[in-house]
Amino acid sequence: MEPAWNLPDILRLLATRPGEARQALYDRADAVRREYMGDEVFLRGIIEFSNICRNDCLYCGIRASNDRVARYRLGEAEILELARRMPEHGQTTVVLQSGEAPSREGDAALARLIARIKAETPLAVTVSVGNRPREVYAAWRDSGMDRYLLRFETSDPALFARLHPDCGLAERLHCLEDLRSLGVQLGSGFMIGLPGERRETLAENILLCRDLELDMIGIGPFLAHPDTPLGGARNAYALDPDMHFLALAVTRLVNPDAHIPATTAYDALFPGSGRNLALTRGANVFMPSATPGQRRRDYLLYPDKPCVDETGDMCARCVMGRLAALNRRVGIGPGHGRRSPNVTSNPKEFQS
Ligand code: SAM
Repeated sequence: MEPAWNLPDILRLLATRPGEARQALYDRADAVRREYMGDEVFLRGIIEFSNICRNDCLYCGIRASNDRVARYRLGEAEILELARRMPEHGQTTVVLQSGEAPSREGDAALARLIARIKAETPLAVTVSVGNRPREVYAAWRDSGMDRYLLRFETSDPALFARLHPDCGLAERLHCLEDLRSLGVQLGSGFMIGLPGERRETLAENILLCRDLELDMIGIGPFLAHPDTPLGGARNAYALDPDMHFLALAVTRLVNPDAHIPATTAYDALFPGSGRNLALTRGANVFMPSATPGQRRRDYLLYPDKPCVDETGDMCARCVMGRLAALNRRVGIGPGHGRRSPNVTSNPKEFQS
């Protein structure tokens, strides 16, 4: 059996200096992505269907205490209409994301919506609406939910506690365990460069993704939102922003067969090029926004979010141009999780 990655291996890679050595690491991540996941890029259309949130995560632009946000929730008919258009754009999964606002009626409405999407479209359904009790996840799974996306945000329990007044890391990890035990494909991940994060934290984050045997790993830069308590904080890698790509490349090496999206926040940090670069440094999934244009400015988790003046059709066309430029193909089929616990790439190959 191949040796497992450990903390010193990862820290060594994260210390790779700018220049040729970093480019070699990116190239290696791209090769591992090609070997394990192929050249297909799976398109998952994301509908940010509500920005109503009862939580006060210190970093998040739609936190409950931000009263500058105009709150909205899309109706079932509107969401269904957006989802129905996805297949014509090569999008085989719909991602339903919102703030965290548990309620009996809202959770039941989401179950009905999932069931209708499954009955009326060929789409796989990913849900991303935060922490819930196991029975709520079970009801959504029974309605047809295929996957769930819930980032652990940071593996450092003390840092997690400082940033999340409403929830602890143990509770978040418990939710992930519940989802796994229900047979739902599991997506999680973290923000890169949270204030207070150390290199060791980043390495631990990457290892935690491996230990959770995630089907999907969503990671992206922390970006300070001015209307939050962290508005004046700096990203921990502000002096070396390419660390965000290094983190992505190492995440791919350690998790060779996970689906890894080129997340939108990469474009916010590297306007015009971030997501394209991410696709050449380990990522194999793209999530075009299908959120209605007039709602996009109300779902600003962080500043400089791209595409806020665009429509779903524009985003759907834009991604095709990006893939053509990168010589990559649109993924056929749902792009379900394909991880098996024993598959790993060999860390020794990357030690210098
Ligand atoms: N409420 C759900 C949840 O908490 O999982 C889904 C929505 S939540 C707003 C989606 C993700 O946005 C979070 O997991 C977090 O990583 C990311 N996010 C929020 N604020 C951010 C910021 N300032 N910079 C970068 N990412 C941010």
